[in-house]
Amino acid sequence: MGSKITAKYSGMCKICGSDWNVGQIIFYQKQPKAICSDNECFNEQGGNISNTFQASFKPTGTGSSFMKEKTKFVMPDVEVPDTLTVAAEVVVAAIKKAHDLAHLMYPDLETESQLFGTIRSKLADQILYVWSKKAQ
Ligand SMILES: [Zn+2]
Repeated sequence: MGSKITAKYSGMCKICGSDWNVGQIIFYQKQPKAICSDNECFNEQGGNISNTFQASFKPTGTGSSFMKEKTKFVMPDVEVPDTLTVAAEVVVAAIKKAHDLAHLMYPDLETESQLFGTIRSKLADQILYVWSKKAQ
């Protein structure tokens, strides 16, 4: 069973010729051997990734980026009070702090990845929780 890994060495696919650099996310499988930065090419080489997490995402074109399905959102037409703007600034600051923390703790994780976003979001929640406790 293959998996998505962070490339430790730069390389090039023997099948499709696409190349990758150190630190890039690539698809890798030991047995039967398959390696490529392109998901489709990896699958054609006999690669197979079992990942229930990714099953909830639709692949966008080729490549390794996944996007959630689009959901319609209607912005309510209301006046935003200043106190809420101040609160939002605290939240943004917490997210920034959480981003730095997550990056410190998971230096190999792509900051654009879904997992990194999840960790950052959880940390931001916890920072805000502790902050609100102290503010009381
Ligand atoms: Zn390839």
